[in-house]
Amino acid sequence: MGKLDNKVAVITGAAGGIGRAAAKLFAQEGAKLMLVDLDETNLLSMVEEIGSDKASYITADVSNVNDVKNYIDKTLSIYKKIDITLLNAGIEGKIASIQDQTDGDFDKVLAVNVRGVWLGLKYTMPVLAENGGGSIVITSSTAGIRATPGLSPYITSKHAVIGLMRAGAMEGAKDKIRVNTVNPSPIETNMIYRIEDEINPNRGNKQPMADNTPLKRYGQPEEVARLMLFLGSEDGSFCTGGVYMCDGGVSGGRSF
Ligand code: NAD
Repeated sequence: MGKLDNKVAVITGAAGGIGRAAAKLFAQEGAKLMLVDLDETNLLSMVEEIGSDKASYITADVSNVNDVKNYIDKTLSIYKKIDITLLNAGIEGKIASIQDQTDGDFDKVLAVNVRGVWLGLKYTMPVLAENGGGSIVITSSTAGIRATPGLSPYITSKHAVIGLMRAGAMEGAKDKIRVNTVNPSPIETNMIYRIEDEINPNRGNKQPMADNTPLKRYGQPEEVARLMLFLGSEDGSFCTGGVYMCDGGVSGGRSF
């Protein structure tokens, strides 16, 4: 028996590293999936890999209200309900100091990472409530509780979604909707390589973010997916309003 038998999960950013790992794990645990992303090629290959009996996809921009309504409508038309939503799509934005970011750079990151999560909450919470409750997991970051230079829009956005999560948890409790964040440190996906390459194009095999992690490695997408499974399933039945680190010790301090 799977932990998510008879459950329906919507996963945004499903074509990326963490979303993909969550989709595979959730499918293994018995969930039916709606995979949401901008990247149709990767969505298609995932449906092929997971099986069209278990997964469907829709291309959508999570910052666009009509696209958000569409991904919910399509999920309901195929699966009739939603039990779990992973609001995971995100972009890192430009790496530059605050004075070298434009207002457009800032707005772009906030639109995807914050408005996208707010719209996801706004339009999935009534659907979960109708179904007697459910779980929403938002992907924040260690950048949601601390800062590093050069990523001010991203850092702002990942702090902001913790606020949204808490608001959602307080408003959703009466309808048995649990809302939590997962907060990964650098995880080995395309995003982290893009950031490392932009900071130092000549880095070669160097992995400074892994070296700065007390466990001395990047996390793997599957390690975040397991925390998402805990929070999404009955294992996390008393967990709501929480910030869940998955960070190799980054938030604990500094090890030498
Ligand atoms: P990724 O770049 O592999 O995946 C991100 C996915 O989001 C991509 O498939 C992309 O197409 C999709 N996406 C971007 N903008 C979108 C939009 N407007 N609408 C729909 N989909 C959109 O990166 P990842 O590491 O898998 O990131 C997943 C989440 O984890 C993000 O929210 C990211 O901020 C967060 N996170 C990542 C790390 C890390 O080190 N990789 C650490 C902490 C938090």
